[in-house]
Amino acid sequence: MNLLSPVSAIPGVGTKYSSKLQKLGIFSIFDLLYHLPFRYEDRSRKAPISTIQAGEIFTVEGLITSIKNEFTKSGKFIQLASITDSSGSINVIWFNQTFLVKSLKNRRVSLYGKVEFYKNKPSFFSPDYEFLDGESNIHTGRIIPVYPETAGVSSRWIRSKIFNLLQNLPDTDPWPAPDLPNWKKSLTNIHFPSSSDYELPAMNYKLRLAFDELFLLQLRAYDARVKWTKTRLAHPFKISDTDLRKFCSLLPFTLTGSQVSSISQILSDLASARPMNRLLEGDVGSGKTVVAAAAAHQAHLNGFQSIFLAPTQILAYQHFQTLTTLFKPFGIEVSLITGNSLTIKQFNNVIVGTHALLSDKNKKYLHNVGLVIIDEQHRFGVLQRRLASMLGNSPHVLTMTATPIPRSVALTMFGDLDLSLISEKPQNRIRVKTWLIPESKRTSSYTWISSQLKSTGSQMYWVCPFINQSETIQSVKSAASEFTRLKNIFPEFKIGLLHGKLKSTEKTKVINDFRSGDIQILVCTPIVEIGLDIQNASIMVIEASERFGLASLHQLRGRVGRGDLPSFCLLFTTDQKNDSRLRIMQTIDSGTELAEADLKFRGAGEIYGTAQHGIPQFKIATYNDLTLITQAKTQAETIYPGLSQYPVLQELVKTDKIAFVQPN
Ligand code: ADP
Ligand code: MG
Repeated sequence: MNLLSPVSAIPGVGTKYSSKLQKLGIFSIFDLLYHLPFRYEDRSRKAPISTIQAGEIFTVEGLITSIKNEFTKSGKFIQLASITDSSGSINVIWFNQTFLVKSLKNRRVSLYGKVEFYKNKPSFFSPDYEFLDGESNIHTGRIIPVYPETAGVSSRWIRSKIFNLLQNLPDTDPWPAPDLPNWKKSLTNIHFPSSSDYELPAMNYKLRLAFDELFLLQLRAYDARVKWTKTRLAHPFKISDTDLRKFCSLLPFTLTGSQVSSISQILSDLASARPMNRLLEGDVGSGKTVVAAAAAHQAHLNGFQSIFLAPTQILAYQHFQTLTTLFKPFGIEVSLITGNSLTIKQFNNVIVGTHALLSDKNKKYLHNVGLVIIDEQHRFGVLQRRLASMLGNSPHVLTMTATPIPRSVALTMFGDLDLSLISEKPQNRIRVKTWLIPESKRTSSYTWISSQLKSTGSQMYWVCPFINQSETIQSVKSAASEFTRLKNIFPEFKIGLLHGKLKSTEKTKVINDFRSGDIQILVCTPIVEIGLDIQNASIMVIEASERFGLASLHQLRGRVGRGDLPSFCLLFTTDQKNDSRLRIMQTIDSGTELAEADLKFRGAGEIYGTAQHGIPQFKIATYNDLTLITQAKTQAETIYPGLSQYPVLQELVKTDKIAFVQPN
């Protein structure tokens, strides 16, 4: 049996069933084996017919000695049967299944169901049945698995198919899993547990299957990494320490220790003959931009272009301004690609833009790209393929993120990346005082906000989760109606509105007005989450804060506390269920700790469930099991050099058709 064959290779699974199974994410035999039950039903209690009493549920085995259709007063057919074993007989009733008369007559069957009185005699009512001509029971007389179903594919159908597949599995492990039970044994026990205390022993079997899931993911990542390291660059960069020192000396601040070590890791990648593939992780405001700029500076000195990709136009513009200022003393040309035409004077320039920069019409601006910097974007895989096809070579790639990533997620998701961490913030940073504000204190907080803005001359963000009033979630304030409402509450202040649906010229105007201080209160959607750097903004209000993950709240909050003003974050909430989760924001100030806390409260699916983050969702494993993740990684690296000994594994690594991990 080839595990990678499509399910249609299984007898009885034609194209009709294959397409239905696809709705359950099942394409191959392998997928079907890993379609695990979500619960079990204990049908193991067998009894001799003579001992059976009404009111209970049993499995019995015997011969259908009689069966006939009977017409009821209400105009329906019922099927009346009798089943006999060596101890006695009992009546059986089915409803509206006239075909049973033919199929069950004189057959040996196993029945499972409830016994009740019918015409004063104990009788089975609509029991589940199966013929006893096979070697073992599948649906009765044992603990049976119950599966996620889809229209036209019942749990019973799935059960039969999986049962038969399991009979034909080889006993030898297709790949080893240290200290965990055998593969076939684990699959068999998860689908068809043998003892009634199946909960406890199953733990170990489940762990084995979770391990497989993680292991395969790690193996693929490792494979990608090995292939990447084999790529050779035609022109490794020469790193100039003198120019680096000059770059640093012209900065308006001293770099933190973490910034210095990140720069040195990045520059040593640039000097190597293989393309860099590095992730720079650092909390909001930790100063990642300048680290990337130091790398772009070296690319320029080596005669290469750098491209700097930002997730939104707003950020592209901000980066353009920052980099223009930074590079001015060095005479490095910085261009912004926004769709308008552009003349390029330098071939080793720096080009900033959104991902639209990678469209074919911009190809003419990209002459000699040696370094690609990707800000706040996690779907590297897709981007990298796009880059490779566009540039025709493999540039160095530096990806930056402020998303705090728990270690278990980092190990899983970034298995093919090198990691640099900025673990400290610039020293002048102040802690953002954070309060959870219940509905009862809303009005008094308005008074406080007003006096605060007046006395310090500072500005603020007012963040709302949606653009338009949602009909289903009435409590959620929309930015648009909030904007109107706040104008009445704060007539003394100038209020602006910023959301993703504005035209880009409108966005630019609003942000410029906010930057220059013409707007005091910026009502916005979470669009500000990523990257806005406006130092005079010192208060942030977040409406319906329970709708956000802690990591997102933390990133939002990072927009304030950037200057030297005391800064505040007010989390409005009406949902007391979330209080204990949100209250963590008041005391914890580290993005990573918050992400770990959220992982415990809500699970990774919730935190990272969005396509933007592209973090894989597991079928069986969880991000909470760091030990298992580490084991899987070690095992993947151990096995990899001898992969050819495991043909199944080799195939599994090659194909990305096996949807082990759910697509998101
Ligand atoms: P992020 O890591 O969130 O992208 P930025 O690169 O936007 O952070 O930096 C945030 C702010 O901190 C910017 O105004 C930047 O000039 C400033 N900054 C960066 N590094 C330092 C430093 N070592 N000391 C003081 N300020 C710094
Ligand atoms: Mg940034």
